[in-house]
Amino acid sequence: MNWITNYVRPRINSLFSRREVPENLWTKCPECGTMLFHRELTDNLNVCTNCDHHMAISPRERFAALFDGGAFVEVRVPEPVADPLQFRDQKKYPERMKAAQKSSGEKEAMLVAEGEIGRTPIVAAAQDFGFMGGSMGMYVGNAIIAAAERAVNTRRPLVLFSAAGGARMQEGILSLMQMPRTTVAVEMLREAGLPYLVVLTHPTTGGVTASYAMLGDIQIAEPGALICFAGPRVIEQTIREKLPEGFQRAEYLLEHGMLDRVTHRGKLRDELISILRMLGRMPAPTRGDLPAPQADPARTLTPPRPNGADLPGPAR
Ligand SMILES: [Zn+2]
Repeated sequence: MNWITNYVRPRINSLFSRREVPENLWTKCPECGTMLFHRELTDNLNVCTNCDHHMAISPRERFAALFDGGAFVEVRVPEPVADPLQFRDQKKYPERMKAAQKSSGEKEAMLVAEGEIGRTPIVAAAQDFGFMGGSMGMYVGNAIIAAAERAVNTRRPLVLFSAAGGARMQEGILSLMQMPRTTVAVEMLREAGLPYLVVLTHPTTGGVTASYAMLGDIQIAEPGALICFAGPRVIEQTIREKLPEGFQRAEYLLEHGMLDRVTHRGKLRDELISILRMLGRMPAPTRGDLPAPQADPARTLTPPRPNGADLPGPAR
């Protein structure tokens, strides 16, 4: 027995614990199976460097990559009543919430922020699929209303990144009421003449697809994203027929006129800037990582020319 407890068991344990270390440093692409180095994957915005498969990205990571210099200010979202139905399945709803808050480090399934992208001021909202499947409850409804109100008050366009399994069943009908509420919020933007851009990410389903996620002035999706009301498995079981290849995926929806664009995550920021500046009748964007205005020597050395007239430059 001693031989087993003193020698065999530690050996087995070390084999298993040795396997845990690379798991933290490497992520396996669910599409092509390539092992991707963690930092490399983060630098590529969680897109597989081998097959371009778009993996989930948290709202905070997305905003850090989206806003100029990664700088943004969070917009406060009013707290709704917690657990109004005293809901319980295998676990109590507040327990599920606590677990989701602990694992994600976020308060709820949507983050709202304001900042600039390509020197274009915007309000942005992003849904977190990692937080209880990004489910739309009262908080998400409040978040969209807060985002729309902030956009109207500051005269900024709203960019929304959707990702959801649908409504939050723990809030019953109160979660379904977020569909008309968020639709009214989108209407506020329309009345104020402000652009509302939606970026649909994998997966956007259920009541979210049936409300604010499909009401954008421009509808963009990330490649391969599943976008649907009822999922393909449910449809297949109901109609008892094999669905076509790529059914309800972003590319399929683009082909069938449900989307305006399918854009790679790496090109999304530039594309959003171009569209927003076009819609806002602003001059064309300046590309690339710009230095801060004060740090640009060309700006301070060359005197401004009246009306951009082609005057002879200073002596060289
Ligand atoms: Zn891959």
